[in-house]
Order: sequence, then C-alpha cells, then structure tokens
Amino acid sequence: MRLSGKTALITGAASGIGYAIADLFAKEGATVFASDVAAPNNDYPPGVQSLILDVTQEQDWENAVDAVIERSGRLDVLVNNAGIIAYEPLDELTLQAWLRMIAVDQTGVFLGMREAVRVMRRQKSGSIVNISSIWGSSAVAGAHSYHAAKGAVRNMSKNAAMTYVRDGIRVNSVHPGFIHTPLTDTQAPELNQVVIAATPMKRGGQPVEVAYGCLFLASDESSYVTGAELVIDGGYLAQ
Ligand code: NAD
Repeated sequence: MRLSGKTALITGAASGIGYAIADLFAKEGATVFASDVAAPNNDYPPGVQSLILDVTQEQDWENAVDAVIERSGRLDVLVNNAGIIAYEPLDELTLQAWLRMIAVDQTGVFLGMREAVRVMRRQKSGSIVNISSIWGSSAVAGAHSYHAAKGAVRNMSKNAAMTYVRDGIRVNSVHPGFIHTPLTDTQAPELNQVVIAATPMKRGGQPVEVAYGCLFLASDESSYVTGAELVIDGGYLAQ
C-alpha cells in the first residue's frame, strides 16, 4: 500500500504502459482516475474510475481535473503518459504530421502539468511524472517529431521541477526503452528487432517494469527526488 491515501490521474491509461500504471497504483492503495481518449479499459481492479480525456484539448483537462477534485477532493499524482509515435525523417515530415505529434506528446504534457500545478500549489504537495523516452535524450535516425516532443518533455519536466520546488511539487521524467505494448506490437517486427538487438539485456521490457519506476516517483519514497530522469531501458542508454 505504497500509495495509500493518494489520488492519481493517469493519461493514456486504456492500454500499454498507462494501463499497467493504473493497475499497479490501484493495487498500491491509490484512488485512481484512469483517463484516455479511447474507450475505457474494463480490466482495471475494482474502484478505478475512468475518464475520457484527450490530452490535446484544454477543455478536457479542465473537466477531468474538476471531476477528480469533485469526487476525491485532491490530486496528489499526475502521470502524463498518453503518447503516439511516428517515424518520418525530417525531410519527409509534413507540417500537419509534425503539429499532431507536438499536440499529443508535448502540448498534452504542458496542459496537464499546468492544470495539476494549479491544484497542487494550493495543496502544497504533489508529484508529476512525465513519460519521455530513451529518444528524449538520445537519437536514432528518423522519428524527427517524436524526438522533438520527447526531448521537450525531458526539459519541461526539469523546468517545472525548478519552478515549483518551493511549493512542495516534485516533477520527474521517465525514459523507457523498448517496451512490449500495443504501440510497439503493431510496428514492423524488423524495427522492433533492431531496437531489442541494440539493448544490452537483449529483450524488450514489460509495461509493469515501467510502472514500478512510476510508483517510486509517485510515492513519498522519492521525497528527495525532483528534476530527475529515471531511465528504464535494459541498459540501452548506458552504452
Ligand atoms: P499505447 O499505444 O499502448 O498506449 C498509449 C495510450 O495513449 C493509448 O491508450 C491511446 O489511446 C492513448 N492516447 C493517444 N492519444 C491520446 C490523446 N490525444 N489523449 C489521450 N490519450 C491518448 O502506447 P505505450 O507504448 O503504452 O506508450 C505510452 C507512453 O510511453 C507514450 O508516451 C510513449 O511515447 C511512451 N514510450 C513507449 C515506449 C515503448 O516502447 N512502448 C518507449 C518509450 C516511451
């Protein structure tokens, strides 16, 4: 019960890493609001409350956080997990595709942090966990817009950590390597094999292995941790 008494809002929680975070947080005693733009997942443990939240929509964020406060009275943890991926190199990227990526993977994090910080400042406490990627601090060829957004999330997390450190709010980023989720399961197998082959552990991670890192950052066990990057990647970035 490492999150007993805490209320957590998780985005992109209908599948993959977000689902694993919602599941683990609920099992660890949190009041969990699992949000997604897609239909809710029906496999959550009892008590998990589903919300429809498109992270690109300002009004959706206001509605979601209002609903959390109305039902739970507080917001202790926000996990900005919702995300999409795309692989176009710079010269093949349309402006429309660029703007879509930035809207979901970067602006979604800005809107979420802004809404959460407004509540957490009043509470004088809170933990925000932003899911970036190994590609938020290192590069492979292609995927230009994804690298842009995930790199921004890394630095936005550090900026928010510095700006609100005196308000009792901690902000950290998580950098997963290759994780088996619906997102990666639908990619070309050859592409997945290249990343796994470049991973020292020679395997992909499971969503729960990322969720355990988020659990630490969400809980009071990480009370002296802010502005940090937690890498969960089978050794990929250590090379
Ligand atoms: P996933 O596709 O399984 O889950 C992503 C969820 O986000 C989906 O349920 C989807 O409906 C939701 N989503 C998409 N657009 C949204 C929007 N506008 N508003 C709200 N929800 C939206 O993917 P995943 O692999 O679990 O990825 C989760 C996060 O982890 C993403 O930010 C991704 O970039 C990051 N990540 C994943 C990997 C990996 O290997 N799987 C590696 C590094 C980082």
